[in-house]
Amino acid sequence: MEVEGLSSFLAHKHYVETCVICENLKPKGIHLYTSFICTECENDLIQTDTNDPKYKYFLKQLRKITNPEIFS
Ligand SMILES: [Zn+2]
Repeated sequence: MEVEGLSSFLAHKHYVETCVICENLKPKGIHLYTSFICTECENDLIQTDTNDPKYKYFLKQLRKITNPEIFS
């Protein structure tokens, strides 16, 4: 049956999503609000010191998620 064939196809499909931090298509990660953060960026974010310039970049990227209307 065609429907069964389609559902098993979908179950095995690996979805890739665009990570909001690195802006690359990644298959694994977490969802924050409506956005997606890949596993690598999530780990990076956790390990980055708040004094690190990279942290500011993360915050800038994350601001797109938390304040989409105050985009500057
Ligand atoms: Zn990423």
